[in-house]
Formats: sequence, C-alpha cells, structure tokens
Amino acid sequence: MSGELILVVEDDVKSRKLVHDLLEHGGYRIVEADAGDLALRLARELHPALIVMDVQLPVLDGIAVLRELRADPATSATPVLAVTASAMPGDRRKIGAAGFDALREKPIDVHDFLATVRALLDARRPPADGAP
Ligand code: MN
Repeated sequence: MSGELILVVEDDVKSRKLVHDLLEHGGYRIVEADAGDLALRLARELHPALIVMDVQLPVLDGIAVLRELRADPATSATPVLAVTASAMPGDRRKIGAAGFDALREKPIDVHDFLATVRALLDARRPPADGAP
C-alpha cells in the first residue's frame, strides 16, 4: 500500500520543505504542523499512518508530544520517527530513551530516510477487525 497520510512536524521551514518534498516524491500524502500542540491536534483528528517529528519544537517538544500520543488509545499505536539536530550527549540519551519508533539525526540521509519511513509503515499492526 502507498499513499499513506504522514504528519510532518517541523518548525524549521527549510527542514519541513525538505521532508515534504522527499515524502511527496515517495508518493505519500502529507499534512504539516510547525508546533507540538498543533501536531497533537492533527494526530487526533486525522489519524496519520506515521508521524515524522522534529524533537525541538515550540509549545510542546517532540518528547512531550510523544508522551501525549502514547497516553491516548486513539494514537498510542501510531509510529513516530523522530528527527533531531541535537548532538549534546545528555540530550541524545534523553531522546533515545523517550521511546520513539526510530530516531535519525540531521542532516537527513535521503535513502535511509525513505527506507525507514517505509519500514515503519510496513511494521504497523493490522487493524483489530482484520480489515485490509
Ligand atoms: Mn525544531
């Protein structure tokens, strides 16, 4: 299956455009958010198949957004690929322990990024009712 809806959460305009263009080229549908609170609202409203999220975000950071997503049964199973520019060892440990489904550091490697997106989408559990 392709054309899945992906929520891209990124406050940096250039980084957001890069991810948008990569995913669009990959045939995915995209919705964008530039802050953590908007990301949570869109995730709850639109039920994206995957969330690609910057960690450093206004209002709510990516770790706080992930915590909220996981606490809500409606979004707890949504895979989240975190993208971070953080190189500080303490931050890296904290981000690594947060429980993202995958974590990649900027700058994004195009082929790795798209392969990771596909792998996360393919690893989703099927719906409980067995619908395709
Ligand atoms: Mn950011």
